[in-house]
Amino acid sequence: MMQDGGSLLLIGVGGQGVVLASAIVADAALRAGWDVKQSEVHGMSQRGGVVSSHLRFGRRVHSPLIEAGQADAVVAMEWNEGLRALPYLRRGGPLVINLQRTVPPGACRDRIGGASGYPALALDALVTEVGDVRACDAMEIAARLGSPKAQNSVLLGVLAPLLPFPNAAWLGSLDDHVPRATVAANEKAFEAGRALEFPAETLAQAALAAARTNGHGGNGRGRPARLEITAAWCKGRACEICVRVCPERCLGINGIDKVRVTRAEACTGCRLCELLCPDFAIVVHEEA
Ligand code: SF4
Ligand code: SF4
Repeated sequence: MMQDGGSLLLIGVGGQGVVLASAIVADAALRAGWDVKQSEVHGMSQRGGVVSSHLRFGRRVHSPLIEAGQADAVVAMEWNEGLRALPYLRRGGPLVINLQRTVPPGACRDRIGGASGYPALALDALVTEVGDVRACDAMEIAARLGSPKAQNSVLLGVLAPLLPFPNAAWLGSLDDHVPRATVAANEKAFEAGRALEFPAETLAQAALAAARTNGHGGNGRGRPARLEITAAWCKGRACEICVRVCPERCLGINGIDKVRVTRAEACTGCRLCELLCPDFAIVVHEEA
């Protein structure tokens, strides 16, 4: 596969090691004698936003950027980001995807009840759509081996058989990029990913992963929080920060240009409004 070069899209959210994984692939390609170009996009990565890396290797590569439908493989470290990246995958190309889910605040429809608009782990539908899906619970595998942070090495192990790089190139690159104290754990995670059999293990792991929440679902508080607003300190429409950031749309501005609670029953006590108010005009109390 990809004997004459290839285009890879790696994607995930901040903190998952997308940039590191991409650097490991690029270095492995160089060690295998390929020309490589790589480009990264960091969104709000330090707040869990999307991070992606385009990587192309070949005899001679002029640009790292991959157009829609042109990625020979997509490696997704987060379920929803994998779904969002599908338009990049060429028809019939393999999707390496983590069953790990990171539910962003905007997807939470009702954290008191635990409902969210995050897409379900519908692996059957994904296989029907894509064909070659190599899904695994990389976090669980890495944790079982003693180091949950090595989840990206599990996914690189899944990717490795798809690329024309010798094992020595992979291991040399891996060893040179991960912290020295974690080399053994990352090598074990890489080999575990490489040894996975698809689709048999995919389906078994998806069934187990679907039963876990991996996010806010099921973490309901049971009752709303209580908000204390000091109207004299609130700048109203000149600010509106809390109104805009509240994930549950609980806040609005009243007739005298001060913030007011419009959906008290929906407040989850997440404290975003309190933390982001520049004038300390909101205090969130746990009790309703
Ligand atoms: S963030 Fe603070 S100052 Fe701004 S509208 Fe909300 S309560 Fe008022
Ligand atoms: S604590 Fe503030 S931001 Fe969070 S849900 Fe309640 S009103 Fe909205």
